[in-house]
Amino acid sequence: MSERDLGTAAANTWCPGCGNFAVLNALKAALGTIGGERGGLEKIVLVSGIGCHAKIADYVNVNSFYSIHGRVAPVAQGIKCADPSLTVLGFAGDGDAYGEGLEHLLFAAKRNTDITMVIHDNRVYGLTTGQYTPTSPLGFRGRSTPGGTVEPPLNPLALLLAAGASFLARGYSNRMELLKETIAAAVAHRGFALVEVLQVCATFFNRYADYNKRVYELEGHDPSDFEAAMRRAREWDYTGDAPIALGVFYRAERPSFERAARAEAAPDRAAAVRAFLDGRAEA
Ligand code: SF4
Repeated sequence: MSERDLGTAAANTWCPGCGNFAVLNALKAALGTIGGERGGLEKIVLVSGIGCHAKIADYVNVNSFYSIHGRVAPVAQGIKCADPSLTVLGFAGDGDAYGEGLEHLLFAAKRNTDITMVIHDNRVYGLTTGQYTPTSPLGFRGRSTPGGTVEPPLNPLALLLAAGASFLARGYSNRMELLKETIAAAVAHRGFALVEVLQVCATFFNRYADYNKRVYELEGHDPSDFEAAMRRAREWDYTGDAPIALGVFYRAERPSFERAARAEAAPDRAAAVRAFLDGRAEA
Protein backbone atom coordinates (compact mmCIF):
# COMPACT_ATOMS: atom_id res chain seq x y z
CA MET A 1 0.00 0.00 0.00
CA SER A 2 1.42 3.41 -0.95
CA GLU A 3 1.61 6.47 1.30
CA ARG A 4 -1.23 7.96 -0.77
CA ASP A 5 -3.41 4.88 -0.10
CA LEU A 6 -2.77 5.26 3.63
CA GLY A 7 -4.64 8.57 3.57
CA THR A 8 -8.37 8.96 4.32
CA ALA A 9 -11.16 11.27 3.16
CA ALA A 10 -11.37 12.99 6.56
CA ALA A 11 -10.88 16.77 6.41
CA ASN A 12 -7.70 17.78 8.22
CA THR A 13 -8.34 20.42 10.91
CA TRP A 14 -4.81 20.97 12.25
CA CYS A 15 -3.55 24.57 12.10
CA PRO A 16 -1.24 25.57 9.23
CA GLY A 17 2.37 24.93 10.26
CA CYS A 18 1.44 22.41 12.97
CA GLY A 19 4.11 19.79 13.67
CA ASN A 20 1.42 17.09 13.65
CA PHE A 21 1.59 17.06 9.84
CA ALA A 22 5.20 15.89 10.04
CA VAL A 23 4.31 13.12 12.49
CA LEU A 24 1.50 11.99 10.19
CA ASN A 25 3.70 11.95 7.10
CA ALA A 26 6.59 10.28 8.92
CA LEU A 27 4.20 7.61 10.19
CA LYS A 28 2.82 6.90 6.73
CA ALA A 29 6.32 6.64 5.31
CA ALA A 30 7.44 4.39 8.18
CA LEU A 31 4.43 2.10 7.81
CA GLY A 32 5.36 1.66 4.17
CA THR A 33 8.75 0.27 5.23
CA ILE A 34 7.70 -1.94 8.14
CA GLY A 35 4.30 -3.27 7.09
CA GLY A 36 5.49 -6.60 5.71
CA GLU A 37 8.06 -7.28 8.41
CA ARG A 38 5.44 -6.90 11.14
CA GLY A 39 2.76 -8.96 9.39
CA GLY A 40 1.31 -6.45 6.95
CA LEU A 41 -0.75 -3.30 7.30
CA GLU A 42 -3.88 -5.23 8.20
CA LYS A 43 -2.08 -6.19 11.43
CA ILE A 44 -1.43 -2.57 12.40
CA VAL A 45 -3.61 -0.98 15.11
CA LEU A 46 -3.31 2.71 15.89
CA VAL A 47 -4.55 4.01 19.26
CA SER A 48 -4.85 7.72 20.05
CA GLY A 49 -5.94 9.72 23.09
CA ILE A 50 -7.45 13.18 23.54
CA GLY A 51 -5.89 16.34 22.15
CA CYS A 52 -4.83 17.74 18.79
CA HIS A 53 -2.60 14.69 18.21
CA ALA A 54 -5.56 12.32 18.50
CA LYS A 55 -6.96 13.26 15.11
CA ILE A 56 -4.15 11.24 13.56
CA ALA A 57 -6.49 8.26 13.97
CA ASP A 58 -8.82 9.90 11.43
CA TYR A 59 -6.09 10.50 8.89
CA VAL A 60 -4.42 7.08 8.50
CA ASN A 61 -6.19 4.24 6.74
CA VAL A 62 -5.38 1.45 9.22
CA ASN A 63 -7.30 -0.09 12.12
CA SER A 64 -7.62 2.54 14.82
CA PHE A 65 -9.15 3.20 18.21
CA TYR A 66 -9.83 6.54 19.91
CA SER A 67 -9.27 6.09 23.63
CA ILE A 68 -9.79 8.55 26.47
CA HIS A 69 -7.47 11.08 28.05
CA GLY A 70 -4.37 9.49 29.54
CA ARG A 71 -5.40 5.96 28.62
CA VAL A 72 -3.56 5.31 25.35
CA ALA A 73 -0.95 3.02 26.93
CA PRO A 74 -3.41 0.70 28.75
CA VAL A 75 -5.66 0.40 25.70
CA ALA A 76 -2.66 -0.35 23.47
CA GLN A 77 -1.41 -2.95 25.96
CA GLY A 78 -4.83 -4.58 26.16
CA ILE A 79 -5.02 -4.92 22.39
CA LYS A 80 -1.52 -6.35 22.22
CA CYS A 81 -2.16 -8.86 25.01
CA ALA A 82 -5.45 -9.97 23.42
CA ASP A 83 -3.76 -10.66 20.09
CA PRO A 84 0.07 -10.60 20.15
CA SER A 85 0.18 -10.96 16.37
CA LEU A 86 -0.95 -7.32 16.07
CA THR A 87 1.45 -4.40 15.80
CA VAL A 88 0.13 -1.71 18.11
CA LEU A 89 1.11 1.94 18.00
CA GLY A 90 -0.10 4.43 20.58
CA PHE A 91 -0.16 8.18 19.88
CA ALA A 92 -0.49 10.60 22.76
CA GLY A 93 0.24 14.21 23.57
CA ASP A 94 2.50 15.39 26.38
CA GLY A 95 -0.44 16.32 28.58
CA ASP A 96 -2.10 13.02 27.78
CA ALA A 97 0.93 10.78 28.29
CA TYR A 98 3.08 12.65 30.83
CA GLY A 99 0.23 14.21 32.82
CA GLU A 100 -3.03 12.27 33.02
CA GLY A 101 -1.49 9.00 31.82
CA LEU A 102 1.97 9.03 33.35
CA GLU A 103 1.44 6.06 35.68
CA HIS A 104 0.14 3.95 32.80
CA LEU A 105 3.10 4.90 30.66
CA LEU A 106 5.67 4.05 33.33
CA PHE A 107 4.11 0.63 33.96
CA ALA A 108 3.96 -0.16 30.25
CA ALA A 109 7.70 0.59 30.12
CA LYS A 110 8.37 -1.46 33.25
CA ARG A 111 6.45 -4.45 31.83
CA ASN A 112 8.07 -4.10 28.42
CA THR A 113 4.81 -4.70 26.58
CA ASP A 114 5.55 -4.82 22.86
CA ILE A 115 3.91 -1.55 21.82
CA THR A 116 5.25 1.66 20.28
CA MET A 117 4.28 4.95 21.91
CA VAL A 118 4.74 8.13 19.89
CA ILE A 119 4.46 11.22 22.07
CA HIS A 120 3.51 14.46 20.32
CA ASP A 121 5.34 16.69 22.79
CA ASN A 122 4.38 20.25 21.88
CA ARG A 123 4.79 21.24 25.53
CA VAL A 124 1.38 22.94 25.68
CA TYR A 125 -2.30 21.96 25.75
CA GLY A 126 -3.11 23.10 22.22
CA LEU A 127 -6.67 21.84 21.84
CA THR A 128 -7.76 23.81 24.91
CA THR A 129 -5.89 26.92 23.70
CA GLY A 130 -2.62 27.08 25.56
CA GLN A 131 -2.35 25.83 29.15
CA TYR A 132 0.96 24.51 30.53
CA THR A 133 1.81 20.79 30.53
CA PRO A 134 4.37 18.64 32.37
CA THR A 135 7.07 19.57 29.83
CA SER A 136 6.38 23.30 29.50
CA PRO A 137 9.48 25.25 30.51
CA LEU A 138 9.77 26.98 33.87
CA GLY A 139 8.16 30.40 33.54
CA PHE A 140 5.81 29.39 30.69
CA ARG A 141 3.11 32.01 30.21
CA GLY A 142 -0.20 30.59 29.04
CA ARG A 143 -3.94 30.79 29.61
CA SER A 144 -3.70 29.22 33.06
CA THR A 145 -0.38 30.81 34.04
CA PRO A 146 -0.37 34.43 32.85
CA GLY A 147 2.41 35.24 35.32
CA GLY A 148 4.52 32.25 34.29
CA THR A 149 4.79 28.74 35.75
CA VAL A 150 6.66 28.34 39.01
CA GLU A 151 7.32 24.58 38.74
CA PRO A 152 10.10 22.99 36.69
CA PRO A 153 9.20 20.55 33.89
CA LEU A 154 9.55 16.78 33.92
CA ASN A 155 12.36 15.17 31.98
CA PRO A 156 10.31 12.34 30.42
CA LEU A 157 13.19 10.57 28.70
CA ALA A 158 15.19 10.26 31.93
CA LEU A 159 12.05 9.09 33.73
CA LEU A 160 11.11 6.49 31.10
CA LEU A 161 14.67 5.18 30.98
CA ALA A 162 14.68 4.72 34.75
CA ALA A 163 11.29 2.98 34.50
CA GLY A 164 12.70 0.32 32.18
CA ALA A 165 11.87 1.41 28.61
CA SER A 166 13.75 -0.93 26.28
CA PHE A 167 13.72 1.52 23.36
CA LEU A 168 13.87 5.26 23.78
CA ALA A 169 14.27 7.94 21.12
CA ARG A 170 13.58 11.57 20.31
CA GLY A 171 12.52 13.07 16.99
CA TYR A 172 11.63 16.56 15.81
CA SER A 173 8.78 17.60 13.52
CA ASN A 174 11.18 19.67 11.43
CA ARG A 175 13.54 16.70 10.75
CA MET A 176 11.29 14.47 8.69
CA GLU A 177 13.74 11.88 7.40
CA LEU A 178 15.15 11.17 10.85
CA LEU A 179 11.64 11.06 12.30
CA LYS A 180 10.54 8.48 9.75
CA GLU A 181 13.62 6.31 10.42
CA THR A 182 13.14 6.62 14.18
CA ILE A 183 9.48 5.60 14.10
CA ALA A 184 10.30 2.66 11.81
CA ALA A 185 13.07 1.53 14.19
CA ALA A 186 10.74 1.82 17.17
CA VAL A 187 8.05 -0.28 15.51
CA ALA A 188 10.61 -2.91 14.50
CA HIS A 189 11.77 -3.15 18.14
CA ARG A 190 10.28 -6.13 20.03
CA GLY A 191 9.31 -4.57 23.33
CA PHE A 192 8.19 -1.23 24.74
CA ALA A 193 9.37 1.59 22.49
CA LEU A 194 8.84 5.29 23.05
CA VAL A 195 9.55 8.03 20.54
CA GLU A 196 9.21 11.49 21.94
CA VAL A 197 8.59 13.95 19.12
CA LEU A 198 9.29 17.63 19.59
CA GLN A 199 6.08 18.46 17.74
CA VAL A 200 5.81 22.18 17.39
CA CYS A 201 2.47 23.82 18.15
CA ALA A 202 2.59 26.67 15.65
CA THR A 203 -0.31 28.49 17.30
CA PHE A 204 0.33 28.38 21.06
CA PHE A 205 4.03 27.56 21.54
CA ASN A 206 6.01 28.03 18.36
CA ARG A 207 9.53 26.72 18.98
CA TYR A 208 10.76 26.24 15.40
CA ALA A 209 13.39 29.01 15.56
CA ASP A 210 14.66 27.85 18.95
CA TYR A 211 14.76 24.11 18.15
CA ASN A 212 16.32 24.67 14.74
CA LYS A 213 19.32 26.29 16.46
CA ARG A 214 19.74 23.64 19.13
CA VAL A 215 18.88 20.17 17.82
CA TYR A 216 21.62 17.76 16.77
CA GLU A 217 21.64 14.14 15.67
CA LEU A 218 23.29 11.58 17.95
CA GLU A 219 26.56 10.30 16.50
CA GLY A 220 29.06 7.93 18.05
CA HIS A 221 26.53 7.15 20.77
CA ASP A 222 26.20 3.51 21.90
CA PRO A 223 22.45 2.88 22.44
CA SER A 224 23.18 -0.28 24.43
CA ASP A 225 24.95 1.81 27.12
CA PHE A 226 22.37 2.69 29.79
CA GLU A 227 24.58 5.24 31.56
CA ALA A 228 25.45 6.99 28.31
CA ALA A 229 21.75 7.09 27.40
CA MET A 230 20.92 8.65 30.77
CA ARG A 231 23.62 11.28 30.34
CA ARG A 232 22.19 12.19 26.93
CA ALA A 233 18.65 12.25 28.31
CA ARG A 234 19.75 14.66 31.05
CA GLU A 235 21.68 16.94 28.72
CA TRP A 236 18.64 19.18 28.25
CA ASP A 237 16.26 19.80 31.16
CA TYR A 238 13.35 21.16 29.04
CA THR A 239 13.94 24.66 30.33
CA GLY A 240 17.52 25.74 29.61
CA ASP A 241 19.22 26.37 26.28
CA ALA A 242 21.38 23.22 26.16
CA PRO A 243 21.79 21.28 22.90
CA ILE A 244 18.90 18.89 22.18
CA ALA A 245 19.82 15.38 21.02
CA LEU A 246 17.76 13.57 18.39
CA GLY A 247 17.86 9.87 17.53
CA VAL A 248 17.91 6.58 19.42
CA PHE A 249 19.11 7.04 23.02
CA TYR A 250 18.65 3.47 24.24
CA ARG A 251 17.86 0.01 22.93
CA ALA A 252 17.89 -3.30 24.85
CA GLU A 253 16.53 -6.78 24.20
CA ARG A 254 14.45 -8.39 26.92
CA PRO A 255 11.32 -10.56 27.09
CA SER A 256 8.10 -8.74 26.41
CA PHE A 257 5.18 -8.82 28.83
CA GLU A 258 2.52 -10.33 26.60
CA ARG A 259 4.72 -13.26 25.59
CA ALA A 260 5.81 -13.96 29.17
CA ALA A 261 2.19 -13.78 30.31
CA ARG A 262 1.13 -16.31 27.68
CA ALA A 263 3.92 -18.64 28.76
CA GLU A 264 2.67 -18.37 32.32
CA ALA A 265 -0.81 -19.38 31.20
CA ALA A 266 0.45 -22.54 29.45
CA PRO A 267 -0.47 -25.97 30.97
CA ASP A 268 3.10 -26.65 32.16
CA ARG A 269 3.55 -23.13 33.38
CA ALA A 270 7.01 -23.36 34.95
CA ALA A 271 8.57 -25.22 32.03
CA ALA A 272 7.02 -22.84 29.51
CA VAL A 273 8.31 -19.76 31.31
CA ARG A 274 11.80 -21.31 31.64
CA ALA A 275 11.85 -22.18 27.93
CA PHE A 276 10.69 -18.68 27.04
CA LEU A 277 13.30 -16.97 29.18
CA ASP A 278 15.99 -19.28 27.77
CA GLY A 279 14.96 -18.24 24.30
CA ARG A 280 13.98 -21.81 23.36
CA ALA A 281 10.30 -21.18 22.75
CA GLU A 282 7.99 -18.59 21.32
CA ALA A 283 5.53 -18.02 24.13
FE1 SF4 B 1 -1.28 21.94 16.06
FE2 SF4 B 1 -1.18 23.68 18.08
FE3 SF4 B 1 -3.03 23.96 16.16
FE4 SF4 B 1 -3.20 21.94 17.90
S1 SF4 B 1 -3.36 24.14 18.37
S2 SF4 B 1 -3.49 21.80 15.68
S3 SF4 B 1 -1.01 21.43 18.23
S4 SF4 B 1 -0.79 24.14 15.91
